[in-house]
Amino acid sequence: MNIRGTTQLAGVLGWPVHHSRSPLMHNYWLEKFAIDGAYIPLPVAPEHFAESLRCLSRLGFVGANVTVPHKGAALAVVDHLDDTARRVGAVNTITVDDSGELYGSNTDGMGFMSNIALAAPTWRPTAAPAALVGAGGAARAVVVALLDAGVPELRLINRSRERAEAVAQDLGDPRLKTIEWVEREGALSEATLMVNTTSAGLEGNEPLDLSLSALPTEALVADLSYDPLLTPLLESAKVRGNPIVDGLGMLIHQAIPGFTAWFGVEPTATAALRDLLERDLASSTVR
Ligand code: NDP
Repeated sequence: MNIRGTTQLAGVLGWPVHHSRSPLMHNYWLEKFAIDGAYIPLPVAPEHFAESLRCLSRLGFVGANVTVPHKGAALAVVDHLDDTARRVGAVNTITVDDSGELYGSNTDGMGFMSNIALAAPTWRPTAAPAALVGAGGAARAVVVALLDAGVPELRLINRSRERAEAVAQDLGDPRLKTIEWVEREGALSEATLMVNTTSAGLEGNEPLDLSLSALPTEALVADLSYDPLLTPLLESAKVRGNPIVDGLGMLIHQAIPGFTAWFGVEPTATAALRDLLERDLASSTVR
């Protein structure tokens, strides 16, 4: 990478941010397309987030991604919000326009759906109920995307009931049914998609405490976590013959709109990029 006075800058604001694979991915694309740009990690503590985000345009950045724990806070800082970010209640991608105004969007749900469309092209969202575990920021993005894709019923399962109910109340869609944690296993019956959006199963966390016994064996099982790539949930789904989708594809797809807006070239999710990220995950001691 050769950084000059003309180099266009983008980055990711998070706290911590050292675990983010976004710099690896965006800099791979910048190099591939020979673009005079750079994408850098920006470790920003919550108390400095609003001020730092506002400074992006003054520092000449073309845009940024926002990751944990700032996605919700970014809503109140940007000058313009797209409809998806407003409904999800979180921003993950910010574009700076020529006058320095910040445009916030949320591409997580779109990244999830694009990845599913490629990984499981025969799955039809409108065919049968789907079940989703978790009610955090990532869950909200996937819930909105699945409802928009036309799922007839979405069973929302979360350990703490209040959080699931808050999602259902905020979105106000009658297809969204909250499920008690003790009822979680039965809620998988007849589903053709089961998504884990919790952080259970991430390296260093306990596995998700959920038996798949009621889930049809043809149902697609997706996990948003990608470290490890084959989470304990995906491993048990694979053993019983369910088709599985890991979280790495979503990570790649959610990044495409931001890169396109900032640098004017639309990248694709290639096997070479996935391979690079997989190798990085396998060799990394940074979590
Ligand atoms: P949040 O902290 O907002 O939410 C975490 C969720 O996990 C909550 O619903 C919480 O339940 C649940 N949870 C945590 N531990 C357990 C457990 N042991 N058993 C059951 N439920 C549990 O996190 P995010 O929504 O921001 O992120 C969730 C995951 O999604 C992370 O692993 C993240 O890396 C991944 N992600 C992946 C992306 C991708 O591109 N692939 C994009 C965004 C996120 P409760 O409410 O009861 O505490």
